[in-house]
Amino acid sequence: MNHTAQNCPRRKKIKRQELGSQEESMCIVCEHELWDEHRALEREFFKACKRCKKFPGGSSQGTCYHCFAVGNTIDECPECAGKPWSEEFLEAKEEIEGPDKPLVPF
Ligand SMILES: [Zn+2]
Ligand SMILES: [Zn+2]
Ligand SMILES: [Zn+2]
Repeated sequence: MNHTAQNCPRRKKIKRQELGSQEESMCIVCEHELWDEHRALEREFFKACKRCKKFPGGSSQGTCYHCFAVGNTIDECPECAGKPWSEEFLEAKEEIEGPDKPLVPF
C-alpha cells in the first residue's frame, strides 16, 4: 500500500487534534515524500506535477506529494518553509539510506 497524504494515519490524528495542539509534527513518512520530491529536482527528468509544475507528479492524479500534503491542511514542507527537517525524520532517513532498504509505512 502506498502511503499518501490521504491515508496517512498521523495526519488523520492531526486533523482530529486540530483545535488542540497545533505544534504536532509531520509524519516522517510524509516528510520523506516531500524530501524525496526536492531531491528529485536534482535528478535529470521527471513528469512535472500538473498542478504546481514544480515537483514530480507521482500520484495517480498526476500531482505531486506537495500538492497533496501542503496547502489545504496544516502540514508544511520544512524545506519549502525554510525550516529544518525534523530530527525524527533525519534519523529515519539515515537508516533508510544506509543499506538499500525501502521505506515501509508503519
Ligand atoms: Zn504520513
Ligand atoms: Zn504539485
Ligand atoms: Zn517542499
